[in-house]
Amino acid sequence: MIRRTKIVATLGPASGNPKTLERMIRAGVDVVRINFSHGTRDQHIELVELTRSLARAAGFTVGVLADLQGPKIRVGKFEHGKIRLEVGDQFILDATCELGNQERVGLDYKELPNDLETGATLMLDDGRIVLGVSQVKGHQVFCVVEQGGILSNNKGINRKGGGLGAPALTSKDLEDIRTAAEFGADYLAVSFVRSGDDIRQARALLQEAGGKGMIMAKIERSEAILALDDILEASDAIMVARGDLAVEVGDAAVPALQKRMIRSARANNKIVVTATQMMESMITAPIPTRAEVSDVANAVLDGTDAVMLSAESAAGEYPVEAVEAMARVCLEAEKEYLVSIDRRMQNIHPATIEEAIARATMYTAGGLQIRAIAALTQSGVTALLMSRRSSKVPIFALTPNEETRRRVTLFRGVYPLEFGEGLNDPEVILNLAEQELLDRGVVRSGDIMVMTIGEPVGKSGGTNTMKIIRVGEWKTRHGIDIT
Ligand code: PGA
Ligand code: MN
Repeated sequence: MIRRTKIVATLGPASGNPKTLERMIRAGVDVVRINFSHGTRDQHIELVELTRSLARAAGFTVGVLADLQGPKIRVGKFEHGKIRLEVGDQFILDATCELGNQERVGLDYKELPNDLETGATLMLDDGRIVLGVSQVKGHQVFCVVEQGGILSNNKGINRKGGGLGAPALTSKDLEDIRTAAEFGADYLAVSFVRSGDDIRQARALLQEAGGKGMIMAKIERSEAILALDDILEASDAIMVARGDLAVEVGDAAVPALQKRMIRSARANNKIVVTATQMMESMITAPIPTRAEVSDVANAVLDGTDAVMLSAESAAGEYPVEAVEAMARVCLEAEKEYLVSIDRRMQNIHPATIEEAIARATMYTAGGLQIRAIAALTQSGVTALLMSRRSSKVPIFALTPNEETRRRVTLFRGVYPLEFGEGLNDPEVILNLAEQELLDRGVVRSGDIMVMTIGEPVGKSGGTNTMKIIRVGEWKTRHGIDIT
């Protein structure tokens, strides 16, 4: 059995060395995440080059997801690095404060006081510290500590319920988009997205910089939940970014939202990644907790395309084991898995010719004993449309286009294969494709498989043909032709 759910691993100090990264790739990493919240431009470029060269040497295709930092709002630094806040203490967030102390601390987002009013609740350090706003005066926000603890330098601030106005793209993000274009990111993730417009802007900027990557919206603000339809329409993919989302909407709301987001993404022909704290305890332990195993398995059962490792693979002690654990859990969960098909979706007619072909293929794959699907594709769209339907049949995306091969690494149940440079006779292509899958041991003589192709060949988005074949038959046919 081949694992269908894909694994994204964030790179960092724990995984940036060739030995570990190679082991992670062999253990099943499909996509690496370059996190622009940490590290320098040179480090990021180096990591991408290292990943691609290791993958090539090992005979794998690995995609690259570049993740923008976005307007993560943070407190400034303290005189002594940190302070302790007790319940009932008065504390001031002061946009003009240089160095913090027991009374006040500065802000990196100077507009914060304008976005707040008396009664608002602020969650610091992922909700570990809670402040109630008692008064806003000019550049100062007067707060009362509702939940105390240690507050140290540069900890994040979220507003419960959302409503902070910081634009999704910061000046640092604009620079990082250029870097992402330069190293050829296959996906660009936009943090703290509020609306489809944020995504449209990021896409325009990436294209302006010469990038061809897909755009992923990280759903981690309350506003993004309300604007989900608009965001989905503007994006190619979304991330269920449970870290910040839990702080804004409350942790208990996240599991149901995860299910809704995964369902909506699939129904709208978009990719979805489930992220944050999936194997959190593996930062310091070689095995996951039972709860983490359940979490990963449930994301698989929800229908996610990919599960993601953050600190586990970037800074943890067991990056390889974390990938292995994820792979094992995904594979086992997939044995049970068939996403229950949304009945309303069944009644929505295909919007394009290739969607009609993709649906017909998956319908066929559900009925006959189909061993494999071979999608001969330029852009990968046919494979995407196929993979939105739940199935146990592997979908091979055969394409001469390297960018497409790297892109489909994130699609559930889709596997890239290099194929078909310079070919244009459909009959020859189909026969060679069949031979390719035979040679790889994916199918055997006598198996039934489905192939899709666009005629005339070579045009992007032109899939218009589905063919059901019995493997090996064309050879017999040729035999008969000759005699
Ligand atoms: P982050 O995004 O790791 O960049 O914060 C993911 C999340 O918030 O869950
Ligand atoms: Mn986040």
